[in-house]
Amino acid sequence: MNAVAERSLNVNDLISQLKARLPVLWVNNSKRAAAEALKSIKYTFDDILDAQARLYRFAPLLAELFGELGSTGGLIESDLQPVPGLRDYLWDRHGVAFDGGTVLVKADHSLPVAGSVKARGGIYEVLKFAEMLALHNNLLCCSDNYIRLSRPECREFFSSYTVSVGSTGNLGLSIGIIAAALGFRTQVHMSFEAKEWKKHRLRQHGVTVIEHETDYTSAVTAARVNAEEDPFNYFVDDENSIDLFLGYAVAAIRLKHQLRELGIKVNAGNPLFVYLPCGIGGAPGGITFGLKHVFGDAVHCFFAEPVGSPSMLLGLATGRHAAVSVYDIGLDNRTEADGLAVSAPSGFVGEMLQPLLSGAYTFPEADMFEYLYAASEIEGLKLEPSATAAFAGPAWLLTSEAGISYLEKNRLSGGETKITHILWTTGGSFVPDDEFSEFMRRGAKGGLH
Ligand SMILES: *Cc1c(COP(=O)(O)O)cnc(C)c1O
Repeated sequence: MNAVAERSLNVNDLISQLKARLPVLWVNNSKRAAAEALKSIKYTFDDILDAQARLYRFAPLLAELFGELGSTGGLIESDLQPVPGLRDYLWDRHGVAFDGGTVLVKADHSLPVAGSVKARGGIYEVLKFAEMLALHNNLLCCSDNYIRLSRPECREFFSSYTVSVGSTGNLGLSIGIIAAALGFRTQVHMSFEAKEWKKHRLRQHGVTVIEHETDYTSAVTAARVNAEEDPFNYFVDDENSIDLFLGYAVAAIRLKHQLRELGIKVNAGNPLFVYLPCGIGGAPGGITFGLKHVFGDAVHCFFAEPVGSPSMLLGLATGRHAAVSVYDIGLDNRTEADGLAVSAPSGFVGEMLQPLLSGAYTFPEADMFEYLYAASEIEGLKLEPSATAAFAGPAWLLTSEAGISYLEKNRLSGGETKITHILWTTGGSFVPDDEFSEFMRRGAKGGLH
């Protein structure tokens, strides 16, 4: 059989499994050596450094606007935490027999200001827009302390602009909170799965919330069309934004320092496996892009999606990216993982990630609640369902046929290899207590309603 026929056969098998909502691990055969792959991408490490430098410039202003950032001098960052108890639970639950390494949580569920991974990209893009406006309109000079932007005349100026976005919830929350804090008018178009509490919280910040009966892709389209009619309306385009992407990528540089502080080495014999919940792809894609720059071939990144919304996996495996949707294969895009309820992936992220990503997997709905329960009971973490998507990752690699073969191919199955697994927990600290108790109740019953 020639290679093309074999590939299409495999894709057909994969699609039948996705259709049947069976959990799968898809390994990306187009992954290339990191250095070579990164050279083929037009954005570079300098772009990530530029984003990082911009966040430093804004830090004094953020510390002024958000009291909770006082202790970090205005930097929005999360902890990297060893979770030995959670590791034992996951190993036991999934029958991982041998010492498969260390497990850490990258705790973006508790990122300040927005309570989710969206605090990285979303806040960054609004800051970049505000900086551009302020520099062009002589409200700020490059050597100024950015605290100047909290002056009434700056806020007054920003209030003639609207910042708008389409979201399943968390991006809206992040953009809405930062844009309103700077004085912008703000419009958030929410898709049907957006939780009431997220809308309520935004309205309390003075944000206009426009509710849609349709899914995320349609809400984004509505927001885009609406913004096009108004030259003073800046649209944050979650499907195509390089600024969001680069804001997320900065996380990789911070992670490098945190690993060093924990005394964890990363190299060929001590690889890093990172599991990232994926919706449209911007957050996990930006983080992966950053990690590949920082750790090269020693980092292996996997995306996680619910069985009802495996859009990035489908786009990558078929090579059709944004031109394919989960509806095309008969799936319904219904999931309690509101942060991941995306029917068609970002094309630009998929294309950039094609040579960098190690693979992607899907997980069943009920597992999220069991994981959420375990994370709270064992480690005291407060997660939303989406944020547990990373938890199945290590077991896929260590126990499935496809995972073991990936390790063998990469010469990582010997006893001397020490893997560090990072579960990226992407949201949850803002979930109201009554909703969280309901998630816990479901989790205690094995994820059932
Ligand atoms: C948005 C989100 C993600 C995924 O980010 P994308 O950029 O949509 O891929 C993961 N987890 C949570 C909790 C989110 O809100």
